[in-house]
Amino acid sequence: MFNLNIDELLDAMEHIFFFIDNYWNVNFVSRNIKKILGYSSTDVLGNNIADYIFKYDLRKAFSETMYSIQTRESKKVECRVMNKKGNFVWMEAIFKPLFDQEGNLSGLYGVLRDIEDKKTVIKEKEKNIEKFKTIIESTKGGICVHDDNNILEMNGLFKKMFGIEDEKCAVEKILDFVSNNLKKPEIFLNRLDSLLKSKGIRNGRVETKDGKVYEYYTKMIHKNKQVYGRIWHIFDVTAQVKYEEQLKKKEEQYRKFFELMPDPIIVHKNGLILYANKAAKEIVKCENLVGRSMYDFLHEDFKKIVMERVKETYEKCITLPWLEEKLIDVDGNIIDVEVAATPVDLEGEVVSLVVVRDLRQKKELERNRMMLNEAMELERLRSEFFANISHELRTPLNVILGAIQLMQVYIKNEDIKTQENLSRYIKMMKQNCFRLLRLVNNLIDITKIDSGYFEIHPQNIDIIKLIENIVLSVKDYVERFGLNIYFNTDIKERIIGVDPDKIERILLNLISNAIKFTDEGGSIFVKISNSQDYIKISVKDTGIGIPKEKLDIIFDRFRQVDKSLSRNHEGSGIGLSLVKALVEMHDGEIAVTSEEGEGSEFTIILPAKLAYADDKIYIEKNMNNNYVERINIEFSDIYS
Ligand code: ADP
Repeated sequence: MFNLNIDELLDAMEHIFFFIDNYWNVNFVSRNIKKILGYSSTDVLGNNIADYIFKYDLRKAFSETMYSIQTRESKKVECRVMNKKGNFVWMEAIFKPLFDQEGNLSGLYGVLRDIEDKKTVIKEKEKNIEKFKTIIESTKGGICVHDDNNILEMNGLFKKMFGIEDEKCAVEKILDFVSNNLKKPEIFLNRLDSLLKSKGIRNGRVETKDGKVYEYYTKMIHKNKQVYGRIWHIFDVTAQVKYEEQLKKKEEQYRKFFELMPDPIIVHKNGLILYANKAAKEIVKCENLVGRSMYDFLHEDFKKIVMERVKETYEKCITLPWLEEKLIDVDGNIIDVEVAATPVDLEGEVVSLVVVRDLRQKKELERNRMMLNEAMELERLRSEFFANISHELRTPLNVILGAIQLMQVYIKNEDIKTQENLSRYIKMMKQNCFRLLRLVNNLIDITKIDSGYFEIHPQNIDIIKLIENIVLSVKDYVERFGLNIYFNTDIKERIIGVDPDKIERILLNLISNAIKFTDEGGSIFVKISNSQDYIKISVKDTGIGIPKEKLDIIFDRFRQVDKSLSRNHEGSGIGLSLVKALVEMHDGEIAVTSEEGEGSEFTIILPAKLAYADDKIYIEKNMNNNYVERINIEFSDIYS
């Protein structure tokens, strides 16, 4: 047998045992009160327990216990007890009435247990539940959590949406609501099975008979690794759907506008076409533009500049002004267009909206107008030319006729005076015949050039010698007009392939013009500059010069700078156009510089190439009597 020590046994317990008499005076308390509440047994023995330890709640419990003694039931209560330090500690107290042998109440016995930790956990839990409730109530959607049969959680909004009044209800009730109120319940119910099985988030929309649209999100939820149920989050999106529908309608309208626009429109990102309207597809004759690069339809010459413009649109976010470009359609035709681009923010992404204007019609009109103007101008010049030519033909003929008449008068007298007069008239007739001949020659040549029958016969010839000879042969002639002519060259000999007759005509024409438009006492300079690839021949005078604005047109056929002025000098206006044509037949170029009142300089550049490989063989141009006659012809419209 072992000796049972009650005190030691009680000490080991977590509960304080006590006994109080009918007056609530403590008759017994276990020693562990010291460990649990800080009091020693002597602190409390003999004292009124209610005044001393138990405050507030316990008084009520005591009274109730007293009243319940008849039933001899025990009483359990959670209460706050003050410890020796003066702090309250949550305890659970169990009381039971104690009766003596006669059955009279002799007091109460009971146990006290520290439940402070349990209380804290409960409080925390309550707080969390409170928080959770606030959250689910404050969301804009209806929330419901259910397991297979019952609704586990539900916020106010959800109850309102589904007309649920009870705190707890069966899932069936919601399914009833769905079947009775949805516009097309079968669609949702057909889907429901797969929704309930799915683990991830699933969503969708349902429409009720009263025209409301709800969007739902649902997900399986777990607790302690077990499926706990399913959560539904439901939003009323009726207004949003209406807005979306309106937006869609508007979008459709805008799309139609774009489609109907007569101007091509594309939207692209860095050249990749995202949208193209009907007109855009039509202009390049390609149905499937989306996904293609817009550079596929851009003329090579414009790719660089357009790429720079695209970069600029994105960098500076600015609208680019109209630019004339050329597109290429799928058949390779070139299309003249005008293009403007503007950056557009498309859901946070900047893209380019490009508007194209088809310039084909406009260009065609412009071309037609230009052609018409040119034709009209040519027509005007032609009429002017014929008026001019008639004059040119009539003047020398009149002179010749007059001379013949006078000769008829004088022919009978044979004195010296008559002889002199006769020879003067003959000279006059001869010069005028030359003039007519020159005019006819020039007209024939121009016609031949126009019809492509004019030919040049290049020979390897010393161009320096050729030109020097021409200058020498006209020297006397020039000096007769009170002018000086100088020849200058920076090389002694240069053999190139030219047609000597044509070079002679070019030179004589230029020199004859220089004589015509330079007053007495002036000078004419003929200069040759040599270079490896070409020979430069310049004919410069100190004459009246040519107005700046006329410099561009003097090589045009039938043009004369000043009608009234040229009338003093005569001329048909075809000399320089013939010169230009002859120079160009030699693959050369002619240019003019002039200063009014200072003089003019005509510069010819001839390529230094041979007519045939052997540069030793060349024909020296024969300066015979024919040559003098040719000068007479070329110079025939200069009057002394
Ligand atoms: P034209 O037969 O009338 O001389 P050209 O074609 O030779 O025709 O010359 C055209 C016009 O260019 C002349 O009418 C004249 O107005 C101007 N012109 C040509 N050469 C000279 C020059 N050296 N000095 C000034 N004007 C010139």
